[in-house]
Amino acid sequence: MEDELLRLRREALAGFAAASDLSTLEDCRVRYLGRKGLLSTAMRGLGQASEADRPRLGKLANEVKVELEAALDGRRAELGSQETGRRSQAVPPLDLTLPGRAIPFGRPHPVSQVMAEICGIFERLGFAVAEGPDVELDFYNFEGLNIPPHHPARDMHDTFYVSDGVLLRTHTSPMQVRAMQRQSPPLRMIAPGKVYRCDSDLTHTPMFHQVEGFLVDRQVSFADLKGVLSLFIAQVFSPQTAIRFRPSFFPFTEPSAEVDIACVICGGKGCRVCKQTGWLEILGAGLIDPAVFEKVGYDPELYSGFAFGLGVERITMLKYGITDIRLFYENDLRFLRQF
Ligand SMILES: [Zn+2]
Repeated sequence: MEDELLRLRREALAGFAAASDLSTLEDCRVRYLGRKGLLSTAMRGLGQASEADRPRLGKLANEVKVELEAALDGRRAELGSQETGRRSQAVPPLDLTLPGRAIPFGRPHPVSQVMAEICGIFERLGFAVAEGPDVELDFYNFEGLNIPPHHPARDMHDTFYVSDGVLLRTHTSPMQVRAMQRQSPPLRMIAPGKVYRCDSDLTHTPMFHQVEGFLVDRQVSFADLKGVLSLFIAQVFSPQTAIRFRPSFFPFTEPSAEVDIACVICGGKGCRVCKQTGWLEILGAGLIDPAVFEKVGYDPELYSGFAFGLGVERITMLKYGITDIRLFYENDLRFLRQF
């Protein structure tokens, strides 16, 4: 019995010392010191020892147990600190001098930027901003603007129809009719928004942005229109930009004009962009046709007004020298980040 205890003591101490990590050490503890371990089994055998030997053997067994527990604690602490050391070496040291990871900033789309700029100029001139529906009734898009069914001007619009009498608006002018139906003069408004036409090439997309503007009051003349548009062009481009008004035709204005600016690319000498003319068309305008006033119940003898419409993509392209309108909608960040 005594030999048995001493042998267990020797083997356990060797086992603890040989354990190379905490889990092997734990297996070792269960084997020798566990409730069903070798030492407990040996101690249960004390009952069979003779009466004379029992106290001495009991004392020895307790001493072995205390010694093994102390050895186990010691070895556990040793292995524990070794593992902590290994773990801290596995984590790379924190280098506080490394530059941080940049979070890329988003920014407004160039068309949105120019749209905001255009609206800002007219708001400073006292124009209110009104927005209307993209899906519009035929009446507001055409009839109310003096474009009855079968009018040849409808052919120019390449309209997307939703159903009979319902369409995607082909210009933002319907807001003129809607605003005039709601309020009586004086009126000073711009209507920015998306418009739709069945058309797609270098300078046309099926959806693009327009800003419509109009002013109605007593004694509004073509000179007022010219003054407002000259100021607008001076602010969007530069005060030196030359302007010309060319006679034109729109069903909802009379007289009508198209407004050109001196080519921003060649300065008026003539180039590919201005088709060698030295001029670029940027908007259409005119005095509101009395027939439009009659549709909304205004007295054309009492009131007059002007209206204009411009394409935001067109202005953006001229401002930044962009030659393909499709770049705006391809979502190429290399292009968009330049603005
Ligand atoms: Zn040119």
